[in-house]
Amino acid sequence: MSEVKILSVSKSFNSSKVLNNINIDIKNGELISLLGPSGCGKSTTLKLIAGILNPDEGDILFDNKSVLKLKTEKRDAAIVFQEYLLFPHMNIYENIAFGLKVKKIPKKDVDSRVSELLETIKLSSEKYKYPSELSGGQKQRVAIARALAINPKILLLDEPFSSLDINLRNEMREFVLEIQKKYNITTVLVTHDKEEALIMSDRIAVMLDGEIKQFDTPYNLYKSPKTKEVANIFGERN
Ligand code: ADP
Ligand code: MG
Repeated sequence: MSEVKILSVSKSFNSSKVLNNINIDIKNGELISLLGPSGCGKSTTLKLIAGILNPDEGDILFDNKSVLKLKTEKRDAAIVFQEYLLFPHMNIYENIAFGLKVKKIPKKDVDSRVSELLETIKLSSEKYKYPSELSGGQKQRVAIARALAINPKILLLDEPFSSLDINLRNEMREFVLEIQKKYNITTVLVTHDKEEALIMSDRIAVMLDGEIKQFDTPYNLYKSPKTKEVANIFGERN
């Protein structure tokens, strides 16, 4: 886990500005959400933190050190996408162990780490199954376990529940909260679902058109929205 700061970050694609002077500071072990409509720049922000993209301006700090020069593999940021991209030709155990093997962790340490994670996600008895033999929720749990295997400094979740049905979605929200508390891992959840952001987050960054309109606790967003847009999302000012 880590403290993460996004400082005055801007990003354009083909001369169109998709992020305009973004500032977010995330505390150790905090779970924040980026909440906003499709196209407002949420995924781009996650990719900048993960190092899949680099900003045009600004800086990104992990524990007060710039990570801009570090490639994705060196940043220890784990990203989970909506469509849980498991390796279809590897069983569950191998999927979770993959990142550890890449890091050349000794086999016995890989074994104990993967076993612990399998227990956490309650899939110990399915470890020799392949992704195609699992349900959507199970696959998503494996994807999260795989992300956690390397002990990342930050866990980045890009709309991880949106392809799941409503019951499963609730179950997965609880699961992520449980695991986030257990490992006390700094987490950024991307969502366009206000309820989800409210249930899950310590703080929410409300994004619109590449800008953060307010970054605050759920309570303060309700109680004292700072702009008309935020008031429209969280109920009127009174
Ligand atoms: P969100 O995740 O909030 O839906 P994104 O961060 O994916 O939004 O995208 C923000 C804007 O940037 C959108 O207008 C999108 O079309 C554009 N965009 C995202 N990635 C690229 C890219 N690689 N090349 C060009 N435009 C992009
Ligand atoms: Mg997105």
